[in-house]
Amino acid sequence: MALLHCTNIGKHYRMGDSTVSVLKGVDLTVAEGEFLAVEGRSGSGKSTLLHIMGALESPDMGEVTFAGKTLSSLPANERSRLRNSAFGFVFQFYHLLPELNVMENTMLAPMIEHSWFAFRSRRNDLRERATALLKSFGLERRLHHRPSQLSGGERQRVAIARALMNRPRILFADEPTGNLDQETGQQIMSVLEALHRDQKQTIIMVTHDRALARTADRVLILKNGKLAVERPV
Ligand code: ADP
Ligand code: MG
Repeated sequence: MALLHCTNIGKHYRMGDSTVSVLKGVDLTVAEGEFLAVEGRSGSGKSTLLHIMGALESPDMGEVTFAGKTLSSLPANERSRLRNSAFGFVFQFYHLLPELNVMENTMLAPMIEHSWFAFRSRRNDLRERATALLKSFGLERRLHHRPSQLSGGERQRVAIARALMNRPRILFADEPTGNLDQETGQQIMSVLEALHRDQKQTIIMVTHDRALARTADRVLILKNGKLAVERPV
């Protein structure tokens, strides 16, 4: 079943007098349970596309539908609710809050999702889920550390735990290993692979790294503002 659908997505940025067309009619369908990679050179528009699919940015042209809903037709508050509860995001530079510890960073999404009272009444459940997730990523001894006290790989595992807290329908990953050495990057890829294999987590990852992209079920190449199917070399 198609979970996410992009139709003729276009996006341009205006820089002073000139306009840069980044996406020029992107069509894409993502099935439930799929692990999709979008590969492309730096500056090819991968992050822009990921932000549009994840309702972080709006396209200038075309439409994104998620679970049958057209994102652009949703009121802003519904769109942000969707973003927070149906989508999870992992970025190259982790985006953890430095003043919060690992546990607090992980609990952030449900804290935003629920009202204070709803959060308080579910706090124990949520704490249990956060602990279980962090433990499954080998972080049980890091719960009270701050991000600055963690390695890059540990920070990214916290970011993945945080992204999974609300059981997102889609996990978006933007160059998730881009800031890590090769071995640590491989560990992060193994985490994503396991989520896909064991939990049937739908994952959309963008990367400039061809070898990493091959971890996915399907690889699409973003080039000159359009998507193409990967051709074997
Ligand atoms: P990638 O993630 O593949 O490296 P991006 O989607 O970040 O590519 O960027 C694609 C192009 O769009 C780049 O040329 C970039 O400079 C430009 N761009 C991205 N975001 C903005 C913005 N907010 N304002 C102006 N130009 C932007
Ligand atoms: Mg990018």
